[in-house]
Amino acid sequence: MKTAEAVTLVAARLAAAGIEEPRREARILLAASLGVDAAGLLMRDNIDEALFAPFLARRESREPLAYILGHREFWGLEFFTSPATLIPRPDTETLIEAALTVFPNRRSVQSVLDLGTGSGCLLLAALYEFPEAFGVGVDISTAAALLARGNAKRLGLSERAAFLTGNWAESLGTKFDLILSNPPYIPSADIDGLMPEVQNFEPNSALNGGADGLVAYRTIMGALPTLLAPCGSAILELGLSQLEKVTDLAENAGFTTAVRADLAGHPRALVIRAK
Ligand code: GLN
Repeated sequence: MKTAEAVTLVAARLAAAGIEEPRREARILLAASLGVDAAGLLMRDNIDEALFAPFLARRESREPLAYILGHREFWGLEFFTSPATLIPRPDTETLIEAALTVFPNRRSVQSVLDLGTGSGCLLLAALYEFPEAFGVGVDISTAAALLARGNAKRLGLSERAAFLTGNWAESLGTKFDLILSNPPYIPSADIDGLMPEVQNFEPNSALNGGADGLVAYRTIMGALPTLLAPCGSAILELGLSQLEKVTDLAENAGFTTAVRADLAGHPRALVIRAK
């Protein structure tokens, strides 16, 4: 089949499956099925349908593009993805922006902790920016910790990163300059309303924040007095409409807070410090 026809056919099937940017995704899927980039696709005259049919069927079932491709960019760095963890999202980059504002001297951060590290994207982006820091990523899922370790190797950061499996901070007894977390924060009853890509494919344990969406924040807040160095900052991702509630939790635990918005203007990162 001519490549231009294939783009049209794949885009039409993706549009019928309810996908928002069908032509863009069609080009990405076709290029990936040939093992080439976008420029490589333009140079092909023909493409065999048998090559792209499996990728197309997966995307029509609303499997996320990042799981099909096996990678996703975050903070300009390339991460392996797997269904064991949440796919890195642009909103989460707000936490790294906040960390750079809090610690303008890049050499002042010696230790970083990422609670619920998943793919490792937050920890590894932080280690990339803070060249003197050593980081620890904790996840309840062994598969997630292994993926994060693979990402550390891929990015050349494995000498400054350690990953362990554990239930939040239970296994930790030291203090950290910077603590990052994108905890599960979707209220359980809202999971059914999420996009099929998220609801059917991303791990529930990385999304489901319990009845009020705040279960993980309570656990983290309880651990912060032990974990946060005296001049340290914890930066937590916030879900929609959670700013006030998570701020209350932090202030009741004796901390001060500041907020940073994402590109859409939503309060997305809560910076928590000792008073
Ligand atoms: N931002 C994700 C979503 O809305 C949720 C991530 C999370 O629960 N931490 O799909």
